[in-house]
This record gives sequence, C-alpha cells and structure tokens, in this order.
Amino acid sequence: MTNLIDKLQSGERLDADECAGLYDLDLFTLGKFANAKRQKLHGKKVFFNVNRHINPTNICADVCKFCAFSANRKNPNPYTMSHDEILKIVEKSVAGGAKEIHIVSAHNPETPWQWYLEIFKKIKEKYPQIHVKALTAAEVDFLSRKHGLSYEEVVEKMLEYGVDSMPGGGAEIFDEEVRRKICKGKVSSENWLKIHRLWHEKGRESNATMLFGHVESRQNRIDHILRIRGLQDTTGGFNAFIPLVYQRDNNYLKVENYPGSAEILKTFAISRLVLDNVAHIKAYWATSTINLAMVAQEFGADDLDGTIEKESIQSAAGAKSASGMSLRNFTDLIQTSGFVPVERDSLYNELKIYDN
Ligand code: SF4
Repeated sequence: MTNLIDKLQSGERLDADECAGLYDLDLFTLGKFANAKRQKLHGKKVFFNVNRHINPTNICADVCKFCAFSANRKNPNPYTMSHDEILKIVEKSVAGGAKEIHIVSAHNPETPWQWYLEIFKKIKEKYPQIHVKALTAAEVDFLSRKHGLSYEEVVEKMLEYGVDSMPGGGAEIFDEEVRRKICKGKVSSENWLKIHRLWHEKGRESNATMLFGHVESRQNRIDHILRIRGLQDTTGGFNAFIPLVYQRDNNYLKVENYPGSAEILKTFAISRLVLDNVAHIKAYWATSTINLAMVAQEFGADDLDGTIEKESIQSAAGAKSASGMSLRNFTDLIQTSGFVPVERDSLYNELKIYDN
C-alpha cells in the first residue's frame, strides 16, 4: 500500500497489480490524488459542448440485456426517423447554438447502408460547420456484418460522407465472460478496439466508454480501463474516457447490487489515475445524475458532456435526462460548485470561457 501511495504521489504510471489495488483505498484518498491530477491537467476548467443527441431508430437486431432503448416487449414502441425528421431536429438545434450532432442508432436490420451515409452527407452539406459524431464501433461492426463490408470499407465511407469523429459507445465491459452475459452477439471487445485503432490510424479521434455497475467486478473495470490505456499508448486517438453508470429500469438484466455514490466516485477517480494518457474524463450526467456529476468534478472528471437537449437511450432505462438542460442552468451549476465552465468544440478546442 505504501508503495502505491508513493507512486500516486510521484505521478508514476501504475502497473496492473497496482491498479487492482486502487479500489482498496478509501474514497477521499483516491479523490485527493485524482483531483490533483485533474488540476494539473486542467486547473479549475470544466469542459462541455452544446450538442444534440439524435437516436434515429430503436429497432435492433441485437438483444443486449441491459438495454431499455431498443424496441422489445418492455418497450413496444418501434420507430425509425426519416431524413426529413432528422434534418428538422438538426435545423432547430443549430439555430439554438448546437455545434455537434451526435448520432447513435440501434442496429436496425431494415435500414440500408446508404441511409446512414446520406443523412451524414445531408447534414454536412447544409451545415458544414457542424461536427458530426456518429456510429459507435458496435454499429460499425453491425453494418460491416450486415452488408458484407470490411471495417476498412465502412470507415472509409464514414470519412467520405462527413463523419468527423466516433462516439465511444458499445464498449460496455471488455471482459469476454461478462460480455457473453450482457450483450452476446454484439461487437467483441477485440473488434471494438480494432475499429477504434483503424479510426485513429486515419488521423481521426474518438471517445471510449465503460458501462459499469451491473454484473461486472471491480477487476473487470480495471481490465477495461487498462485495455483502453494500452490502445491509447499506440494511437493517442482517444479524447475522453466516459464511465457510464448502468441504469436499471425496463431491461432484462438481473443485477444483485447497484453501486452507491461512493463506488461511482471511486470509479471516476480510478479512471483519472489509471488513464495517464487520456486527456479528459467525462462525467456523463445523463447516467450519473447532474448532482453526482458536480461532485465528480472533485474526483477527476473535467468534462460534463453538454446540454444534451434530448436524450433517449439512458432515459429509457430510468435516467432523469430526457429533456437535457438549458445552457444557463448548466453553466450556473458548474460555477456555483467552484469550477470554470468552458464551452469546447468536439475536439476540445476552447470556444468560450465563462469566467465571471
Ligand atoms: S444496446 Fe444497442 S445494440 Fe444492444 S440492444 Fe440496445 S440498441 Fe441494440
């Protein structure tokens, strides 16, 4: 333990065994070191962007047990948006100041490959300034299998049709055993990492998520974070790591113990401490609640995603995020918690500092 504390104090990289020992430290020791690291990287700045999440279809060929978003017996409400519907949402969001459109869909077997590509192109043609973040590695894998394309071919088309960066979804927990239990049939952890590697090799950036607080162990989380660190050592293409808190409603996963606030905050702090090569740790308040996200700022998180505007995936599973939050409310909350809100673009260029 002394050795671990010494290494945390010196800022040296932790090896796998030392990372495994982090959960044994008490919350405030972890918080102290994670906050010091966060302060060193970003001072009091807390980043966010003005974005809009669009989930164009909830019809899915996969059956992830933790999912409450896809149309199924517990959510018998299938939909697929038309391009016109999507463009109307984009138009309204752009008028409201959105800089990023974040598009993630279920794996709809009826949706043609061209349908995805055309909507990216239409958005970019009409709003060239807008950053399109779209297609998780799970979607890339699904589209590749469905349409007989290599990952390389899917990625090349994404670039050609205007996708700027990839979101970090679909990673869930990399441990193969846990994956079999919660999302059998979905992209493998190896392929998730392969797709992000390919994207980074094209000179593009992405994020990485981790869905935690269900049937995984602490060791599974450490393993997950270390696999991200490993790829980041090679490519440097991850902008942010996003620990997503599992939402328990309207799904088919049987979970015995849910993590309390202390466990969630420990996981944020450990993510900050282990990922010495990823610049940003994001507290996605749609899953952690805005109140806990505010506290997470003291435990290593320096990014709160954004105003979101409307969100369907987490809110379907019980998250209280369906309507997003006004910009004013959002920046007020950050300021009154003692931090400096910084509006950023999708690649973390600073656009506006709210310093008064
Ligand atoms: S998590 Fe995604 S891939 Fe899995 S069932 Fe839900 S929508 Fe489909």
